[in-house]
Amino acid sequence: MNIEIEAHVARMNKPKMDAPCNHCGWCCLTETCALGKLFTPEGETCTQLVKQDGKYYCKLASTASYAAFLHIGEGCNAITVEEKLEMLLAV
Ligand code: SF4
Ligand code: SF4
Repeated sequence: MNIEIEAHVARMNKPKMDAPCNHCGWCCLTETCALGKLFTPEGETCTQLVKQDGKYYCKLASTASYAAFLHIGEGCNAITVEEKLEMLLAV
């Protein structure tokens, strides 16, 4: 599956921001975070992203300081354009 299709499938499975992370992978498939950029050539999918049994994980999460920096375990911290619009329209 190519990266655009994987990201599209992930978007379909993404929970709302702040809900428990279900490892859909949408965040990391669509944008490499600042930490991931240190390990990833420009323009490529993050080298720290791994897929296991249909779920995505960050290899850096096993290091406590990286996990804290990335807010691992604190719920979904990614937001889609649609979620942003919903929030704006709810105000
Ligand atoms: S944090 Fe990323 S992998 Fe976890 S639910 Fe949100 S978009 Fe999916
Ligand atoms: S470093 Fe981890 S959290 Fe950041 S983009 Fe890569 S896989 Fe995702």
